[in-house]
Amino acid sequence: MDLYEYQGKELFRRFGIPVSDGRLATTPEEAHEAAEQLGGPVVVKAQVLTGGRGKAGGIKLADDPADAELKAGEILGLDIRGHIVRKLWIEKASDIAKEYYLSVTFDRGEKKPLFMLTTEGGVEIEQVAEESPDALARLHIDPLEGFQPYQARRLIYEAGIDSLDEQKQILGIIEKLYACFVSADAMLCEINPLIVTPAGEVRALDSKFTVDDSALFRHPDIAEMRDVAAADPQEALAREKGVTYVKLDGEVGILGNGAGLSMATVDVVVVVGGRPANFCDLGGGGDAQGVVDALEVITSDDQVRSIFFNIFGGITRCDEVARGILAALNHMKIELPIVVRLDGTNADAGRKLLTDAAPPNLHVEPTMLEAAQRAVELAAK
Ligand code: GDP
Ligand code: MN
Repeated sequence: MDLYEYQGKELFRRFGIPVSDGRLATTPEEAHEAAEQLGGPVVVKAQVLTGGRGKAGGIKLADDPADAELKAGEILGLDIRGHIVRKLWIEKASDIAKEYYLSVTFDRGEKKPLFMLTTEGGVEIEQVAEESPDALARLHIDPLEGFQPYQARRLIYEAGIDSLDEQKQILGIIEKLYACFVSADAMLCEINPLIVTPAGEVRALDSKFTVDDSALFRHPDIAEMRDVAAADPQEALAREKGVTYVKLDGEVGILGNGAGLSMATVDVVVVVGGRPANFCDLGGGGDAQGVVDALEVITSDDQVRSIFFNIFGGITRCDEVARGILAALNHMKIELPIVVRLDGTNADAGRKLLTDAAPPNLHVEPTMLEAAQRAVELAAK
């Protein structure tokens, strides 16, 4: 789950990482009021779950409350790469002498958290990594040993930060950022830019924060930050129903049991010339309610032209899945063609149930390949 800048900064603040004072606003009037409360020049910042807002015109400085109101009016409603701006963060403006970059993320290859620090901040980190890789200092943290200040000192030297005062402040920020990363079960905490003010004060001017979805159950306060209105409606429905669902852009809706089989199904559909509309995993279940829930999510995508059920019965019994499919078809009206391939435990019984009931839009195929071909063919009609 990605957090908005203002939410990430709230977590930073709780861990003692210096951030600027700010207020949330959803209208130009609220922006006016926020600027009045903050006093002095402010920066009006679009809150959208994508980076590069500055270049897209989503970040503007304002001299006074009237100007903040004006700038808020310009930014609200902007479309930043598909994200419509509905919320603004009004923050006390900072004077900037230098822009650094600091992040901690997972290095899956090393199975360790990885810090990156560079004095070439403000721009996209991918650009720094490409154009001046030597400027990017890296440090892995052993998750069992935990954070050791001497390692962070090495990271700071390697990045070429030579002011003693900055070194001290950044050391503190790295330590706090690691604590924040670990206790929030984060996947990414990025500060870009980490600024140095003309007075020499180091502060987080931006925040990019991703929390591991699987850990949200132990962070009810973070889970609550999710912006339901901004979420993809199908993914929101899937989450609500507990269905594993990933939207893709093709026409064949896919339901498999187990992630491996579902992925293989996506591949087979592509191999026979089709395009998957989604990746949907029924998991170990296959009971009627599970099938109904998954079908509801899949059919809520109007790009779907056919549905492909690919079930391999292991512990899940094919006859039970077949009953689930029939119950689902009784329960909801689906006119789209449905192609079913059942194999494994009780496959014969399952196929018999389906062919006996014989709903006109239901096609039972003997193999995964034939079923994929049929589903792709029917999607093209
Ligand atoms: P991003 O473009 O989405 O990464 O948004 P940022 O929050 O990083 O802001 C983009 C840029 O706007 C920063 O790199 C700064 O150069 C500038 N900026 C943001 N806040 C301030 C501020 O308080 N004062 C000044 N002078 N510039 C700011
Ligand atoms: Mn930024």
